[in-house]
Amino acid sequence: MKTDSKTGRHLEDVRNLLKGLTVANAPCDENIPPADSLLYFIDLACPENSRFSSNFTQMLGYDISDFIAPAADWWMPLVHPDDIGNLTSLATLPAELWGKTLTQRFRIQHENGEWLDVIDQAMKVPVAQNGGGVIVGTLRNPSIYRKISGVLQESNRRSRHLLETIPDGVMVYDARGKVVHSNVAAQKMLGLNAEQLFGLEAADNRWQAVDQYGQPLKPDDFPAVRALRGGEPVSGVVMGVKRGDDTRIWLRLNVQPLFAPDTGQSDGAVVSFANVSDLKNAESAIAERESLYRQMFDHSPAVKLLIDPRTGRIVDANRAACDFYGYDHVDLCGMVIAQINVSEGDAVAKSVREIVRKGAESYSFRHRLASGVIRDVRVHAGRIVLNGREYINSIVFDVTERNEYERRLIKANRQLQLERQRLDEIVRATNAGTWEWNIRTGEIRVNERWAEIGGYRLEELTPFGVDQWTSLCHRDDLDKIHALLNRHFDHETDHFDCEYRIKHKNGGWVWVLDRGKVFEWSDDGKPLRLSGTHSDVTLSKELEQRMRHMALSDPLTGLANRRRFEEYLSTAIAQCRAGGRHVILLLFDIDQFKMVNDTFGHPAGDALLVNVAERIRKQFRESDFIARLGGDEFAVLLTNVEDVAIAQKAAMRVIEETARPIKVEGQEIRVGVSIGISAGCEAVLPKTLYQCADRALYQAKEAGRNTFRVCKVREVD
Ligand code: GH3
Ligand code: MG
Repeated sequence: MKTDSKTGRHLEDVRNLLKGLTVANAPCDENIPPADSLLYFIDLACPENSRFSSNFTQMLGYDISDFIAPAADWWMPLVHPDDIGNLTSLATLPAELWGKTLTQRFRIQHENGEWLDVIDQAMKVPVAQNGGGVIVGTLRNPSIYRKISGVLQESNRRSRHLLETIPDGVMVYDARGKVVHSNVAAQKMLGLNAEQLFGLEAADNRWQAVDQYGQPLKPDDFPAVRALRGGEPVSGVVMGVKRGDDTRIWLRLNVQPLFAPDTGQSDGAVVSFANVSDLKNAESAIAERESLYRQMFDHSPAVKLLIDPRTGRIVDANRAACDFYGYDHVDLCGMVIAQINVSEGDAVAKSVREIVRKGAESYSFRHRLASGVIRDVRVHAGRIVLNGREYINSIVFDVTERNEYERRLIKANRQLQLERQRLDEIVRATNAGTWEWNIRTGEIRVNERWAEIGGYRLEELTPFGVDQWTSLCHRDDLDKIHALLNRHFDHETDHFDCEYRIKHKNGGWVWVLDRGKVFEWSDDGKPLRLSGTHSDVTLSKELEQRMRHMALSDPLTGLANRRRFEEYLSTAIAQCRAGGRHVILLLFDIDQFKMVNDTFGHPAGDALLVNVAERIRKQFRESDFIARLGGDEFAVLLTNVEDVAIAQKAAMRVIEETARPIKVEGQEIRVGVSIGISAGCEAVLPKTLYQCADRALYQAKEAGRNTFRVCKVREVD
């Protein structure tokens, strides 16, 4: 604003007046930015001195030059026609209103045609020097204020919203260090509601605050207190406080002091904090784990060494290591690994390089103890990094005994293998088949020879099990086999030993001898697996049968001999007892046989014996038993006979038949035969029956020969 001599004085007054009209003091709710309100000064005596503030165009859109030398009520041409009638003109203002602020509200047209709702506040002041007066006023656009206010409220709302949604806890302290605001996150973290937090002091006792090492925090050390006192931000402080539910929470805090904008004095502080309990717990877990590892290292019964891979020096050793090597901890830790490792060449250095490269490895070494004794060891070593430095963590196992045991085991195994080979050779030499029976699965493993004995190839018997084996066995032998197996399974016999027949592939029967033994029992004494040999005994069995036949038969006539007769007699009587019928014994003795021998010679006698035997046999049924008891004596045993008369008729027929001339070596010989018959029933003894028949025979001889006599058993008794 320019001044000149004429107006200099009143302009000074006006300036003073204008001070009283500063925007800040305007009767308005909000702080109004000066740019949004127009100031004006109208010099009624010298209109060319009138002035508008520079934001005229900005506010109303018109060029300010249009309003050079304006009059009072300069805005009148721009006022909305509907508002003109309500306005008080400053040009004609009554004298009593001069010096008083006149506030009027009306619509004024912007250069762009828009109607602005404005408030005009003006004061008309008399100025003595020019006899006129001046008008000073402001024209404000409250719609702009509303907009600004809205923006401000929105911004406030947003920042409040932001405050509520951020995960960090935020608390605002006033200058006295008392909580005046807390956000939801803070309330949740601390377990206290807004009311409970409100007014709490920064260093309140209820927090039972501790520093990051768990030491109680002095009131002066509270970060909010420090920031309030020192006026400096405090950041990254970790502390533990008690929550509303009395549990401890670990927080990492930042504190920003606040200052009053006008005075610059400390005006409070904003504390923001994050929950670092997990981190803190993890930290203490790590610390605990470290201590645990340390204890595990120290107290482990395993021998442990920590080695520096660059120097090979033992940097740590546990108690077990000191005990094992026989050195004090101090001595052992000063040694290099090569001092205790007696492995050849650069094996140690090589292994160290390898561990560093691969991360972990195991080695077999030989270590020397303080006593000079050398032990076999197995070393499991791994690369570890502690505080940025590399180490080798070794666990050493004394495997001397184990190695010795292994050596012995290998030796024993070799011996066992030799033994087995020898055994196999023996088995092969005996030409025996072998078998192994798993009772639980029923599977039987046989060798080639086993299969061959039955006429099979091994492939034909694969798979082979107890069912297939049973189907090959002779039905009549199964009971015997099972009985013998059960006796062995019941621990009654040391071995299973059985001769039985198996069906040959060609349809015949093969006699086999099985010898086996259970080699695995269950805990409750049940057989699990047994094995054995399987030999073809057909030949010896046949031989035996032949021998038996020979032993029991008469070589001359082929009839049963006396021994067989005696066996049979007992059996026959026993069977007769069961049947409740008669058993009849006929004894034959050729009459005057000695004379045949004497007359025709012994061979002729033999031929006659064969002939008579045949004649006797023909008079009886196939099932009747005939034997030559010796010399010229024969016997026939009839079982299950209803009537003795049957025997008498047979005896008659034999006498008649024998009487017919017998041609021997071209000569006819006639002989007679005397017969003794005895009949018994269930109660008779074999010996009694025989004696009885013999008595009857004697009677027949006595009666003149070539006849028979019957003797009932009770007659003898
Ligand atoms: P008896 O009427 O009393 O029976 O008169 P015997 O001559 O038949 O007398 P006895 O039955 O006592 O004698 C049987 C004879 O049979 C005696 C013996 O020399 C003869 N002898 C025994 N065994 C054989 C043999 O195997 N072959 C031959 N040829 N003669 C035998
Ligand atoms: Mg005779």
